[in-house]
Amino acid sequence: HFGFEDGVSEKEKTERVAGVFHSVAESYDRMNDLMSFGWHRIWKDHFVSSLNPGASSSNPPKPQRILDIAGGTGDIAFRMLHNAHVLNSNPDVHVTISDINTSMLSVGKSRSEALPASQQTALSFLPADATALPDAIADSSIDLYTVAFGIRNFSNIPAALREAYRVLKPGGVFACLEFSKVGNPLLNAAYKRWSFSGIPMIGQLVAGDRDSYQYLVESIERFPTQEAFRDMIVDAGFVVGGDGYENLTGGVAAIHKGMKP
Ligand code: SAM
Repeated sequence: HFGFEDGVSEKEKTERVAGVFHSVAESYDRMNDLMSFGWHRIWKDHFVSSLNPGASSSNPPKPQRILDIAGGTGDIAFRMLHNAHVLNSNPDVHVTISDINTSMLSVGKSRSEALPASQQTALSFLPADATALPDAIADSSIDLYTVAFGIRNFSNIPAALREAYRVLKPGGVFACLEFSKVGNPLLNAAYKRWSFSGIPMIGQLVAGDRDSYQYLVESIERFPTQEAFRDMIVDAGFVVGGDGYENLTGGVAAIHKGMKP
């Protein structure tokens, strides 16, 4: 009933998505824990450690520019800074959190005030639409592009992939964490039952907003399969290794990666 039927313009879709995230921004972090039973933390940890930002064989280690698209309240960006600055002792890693939604970014900004000062200075915030990034992000300027639980909301996914390709350096990596398709029929049945009745209900009880959470569940349903999404990444010009994706928790979520040749 958010009307994502054919015939709705991209602009209108973008505005509706903006409305959803303006209304969920304050409750977003708490809701994530409730909706996924805390699993989103494990997936995010795994996503970031698989990318191992800040890792470098040279001494001093290579600087890195990371762009976290649809970065929302900062979960991925903060983990990347920790991985780079603390685990890899590489302070020369800068992360830009970009999001179309200023409400989500301002929650992220206030959360970032709890980070160590050195990490705060390595962080910047950029309001932007992933499907048309501003000139401030130059062609071939980014080492790592991440997007977690964001791309399924974009009104034009191929356009976002083209932009990712444009801003990445040759050798740069596109990495996406997103809800995906569950292979096992039993797990899928349980998961569907939870997402279609449990999540909107918790949305109502905790955030007082059933419709926004109903929309989020429907957007997962509409998102392409692991293979179809991998093919879109390849069509955008990226090179993928193996299957091009990794399933998490039986496919409830999946990680896709591609390299700009
Ligand atoms: N990456 C964060 C995380 O994993 O917790 C936030 C994910 S949140 C589910 C999805 C985010 O996508 C929202 O903050 C929303 O504003 C953003 N978004 C939706 N459409 C967008 C677009 N066209 N460009 C950039 N961000 C967008």
